[in-house]
Amino acid sequence: MTHDLTTTLASQVRSVSGRPTEASTPMEVWQGLSSAIIDTIADDWYATQEKYHAGRQEHYLSAEFLMGRALLNNLSNLGMVDEARKALNAFGQDLSVILEQEPDAALGNGGLGRLAACFLDSCATLELPVNGYGILYRYGLFKQLFDNGFQTEHPDPWMEEGYPFIIRREEAQRIVSYADLTVRAVPYDMPITGYDTKNVGTLRLWKAEPIEEFDYDAFNSQRFTDAIVDRERTMDISRVLYPNDTTYEGKVLRVRQQYFFCSASLQEIVDNYVDHHGEDLNDFAAFNAIQLNDTHPVLAIPELMRLLMDEHGLGWDEAWAVVTKTFAYTNHTVLAEALETWEMSIFDRLFPRVAEIVREIDRRFREDMANRGLDAGLINYMAPISEGRVHMAWIACYAAYSINGVAALHTEIIKRETLGPWHDLWPERFNNKTNGVTPRRWLKQCNPRLASLLDEVTGSDAWVRDLSVLSNYTDAATDEVLDQLSAIKHENKVDFAAWVKEREGIDIDPDAIFDVQIKRLHEYKRQLLNALYILDLFFRLKENPNLDVPKRVFIFGAKAAPGYIRAKAVIKFINAIADLVNNDPEISKTIKVVFIHNYNVSPAEHIIPAADVSEQISTAGKEASGTSNMKFMMNGALTLGTLDGANVEILEAVGDENAYIFGAKEEELPELRKTYDPRWHYENVPGLKRVLDAMVDGTLDDAGSGWFHDLRWSLLESGYEPADVYYVLGDFASYREVKDKMAADYANSRAWARQAWVNITKSGRFSSDRTISDYAREVWKIEAEPIA
Ligand SMILES: *Cc1c(COP(=O)(O)O)cnc(C)c1O
Repeated sequence: MTHDLTTTLASQVRSVSGRPTEASTPMEVWQGLSSAIIDTIADDWYATQEKYHAGRQEHYLSAEFLMGRALLNNLSNLGMVDEARKALNAFGQDLSVILEQEPDAALGNGGLGRLAACFLDSCATLELPVNGYGILYRYGLFKQLFDNGFQTEHPDPWMEEGYPFIIRREEAQRIVSYADLTVRAVPYDMPITGYDTKNVGTLRLWKAEPIEEFDYDAFNSQRFTDAIVDRERTMDISRVLYPNDTTYEGKVLRVRQQYFFCSASLQEIVDNYVDHHGEDLNDFAAFNAIQLNDTHPVLAIPELMRLLMDEHGLGWDEAWAVVTKTFAYTNHTVLAEALETWEMSIFDRLFPRVAEIVREIDRRFREDMANRGLDAGLINYMAPISEGRVHMAWIACYAAYSINGVAALHTEIIKRETLGPWHDLWPERFNNKTNGVTPRRWLKQCNPRLASLLDEVTGSDAWVRDLSVLSNYTDAATDEVLDQLSAIKHENKVDFAAWVKEREGIDIDPDAIFDVQIKRLHEYKRQLLNALYILDLFFRLKENPNLDVPKRVFIFGAKAAPGYIRAKAVIKFINAIADLVNNDPEISKTIKVVFIHNYNVSPAEHIIPAADVSEQISTAGKEASGTSNMKFMMNGALTLGTLDGANVEILEAVGDENAYIFGAKEEELPELRKTYDPRWHYENVPGLKRVLDAMVDGTLDDAGSGWFHDLRWSLLESGYEPADVYYVLGDFASYREVKDKMAADYANSRAWARQAWVNITKSGRFSSDRTISDYAREVWKIEAEPIA
């Protein structure tokens, strides 16, 4: 059935390039090899869809899927890496060069989008009937460059040169109607292979297109510009991923995007139900569960009401009974400013019928709550619409049968605070699903040396499908294994140093400690705390050149939302410190600072296997879960972190002696805040005054932007808010103490390797396979559906 890969490859490359493989460019060979993968999986993909559509399914709706590259992932899942390497060699082509041709599918901002991608991988591997739905953004998250240390943003047209891992399904298009515009939603399907299974799942991404390619009448008349404008307004809908996960711009367009993919997905899900189970929609929830990844897809709730009532004849009560058995909602943040609300006027303008349904949900909610005896103030606070705004999270909480947080601490906080009133009403709806990451991409593929060691120590590759087996080997670390582990880390660091040299032009020493913080740039994540430490260390070394500190490389990767000036200021600040440190002939012998530009999934795959230290230093209570902490742990980096998000559970898994924890705890902060005076820390914590003054005394140059002044001001005397809301100065002393100790501990390489080994072998509970098994069993009520 499957053809010899060499033959398929040659013919696919030939049809892409019109030349023999030997004479084709690496990009053409990437295209051809990728097409050969589609050829290999096509029949199984079709069979999987047929099987899933006939039974109970879960649909994962997410505005973001941060997929990264597909080729290696597919080759690895299908067990074809060696075969592909050999086939390419036969044509004088090198697999590692070919793999680097592929653009990242960066259809997400960060953790939330990457989580969705890891989940799809686990669903396919576990053979679960799950379909992903999102938007085919023409431009993924912006490309980041640095200009004199300032972030600049550039478009990322990731599919422009052709992308074989996505197939247009013209025949399955739907119509999405707005009051002012009617558009076609054309699905593009991406196959999701699993590890060592024939099942192939689907991610369906919708693209907006004009109803008619050209309105020739309009073009031929006076309405020429109208035709162009309408066409552009349609194309706008799936043009760009909003590079922002906390604050809002382009609101109307953003709401349009949300409705677009919700409506198209639901139309399809409902049609599929009718095809397989008949016209009576009352039983819809017996066959369908829909997970809302954050509030971006919450419009699916009133849209399903609309479809059930207006197109399938159900009454309100019947429709609501279906809806409240269908949707499950995942909350991703405790930050109040990140909970979406929209002006009701936007709904009225874009989709009056859906707006009417939302009003009716609101009316019934108020009535329902009044009957339960809630007081008017509370009802008004919790109502779907208040003060002319629609509160998306409140609609989700009212309609969903399951509401989950993404780490134990986070779930406790939303139960107590963010979603407290809902928890009081419906405690049984609340549950925790601690996030996870796929061990295929984040261990087997990105760290093949460590993967081989694990195969060797455990005697098989069973850990790739069940990461928890590694915990049986925590005590199996002989000195020989530990030395192998150290050697592997060193080799990874050598590779990474070469990658940094080529990409950033900076020399780094693989014998130094690689201390890494990679994640979106946000004040709560406190890259600034890390930067202040480095600057303080610079001054300590200046003051005392004989200070005995281990060699270290501080590595950053982060994009800032384009409108988030203070985050951009932190990037400039870190780059200014890098200039200062790296250009100092003495200090640069001991420390270096590298800011990897354009952080994304593929850079993460290069960085994480080479990391010694994983910086997870958010203000306690602010990071919902974090997932890079899990990727680092799996690759044997030790966590330097606060008791926040999933760090709490990492600590629980590895024990106090195998993680470095510092700083104020979430439950301590309210009390500490009452008397918190950042000025006191500035005056009294040794070193702090020196670093904060260096921000403004000419030591570091912000090119006249005034940004460093603002950063310093935000820490010491912010006007309308309390100063230093993220408690950077409050945690500084504790951070420095633990980070210094950690660096000193590195000298004992056996002991360090033992800690790393414990982290690797205890990382099983952070596999997304565990997370997804829990969702499948407790929330979605679905079971494996192997096709063979
Ligand atoms: C895992 C991942 C994230 C999430 O990182 P956190 O540190 O958990 O915020 C963000 N971006 C990319 C590219 C990732 O791979």
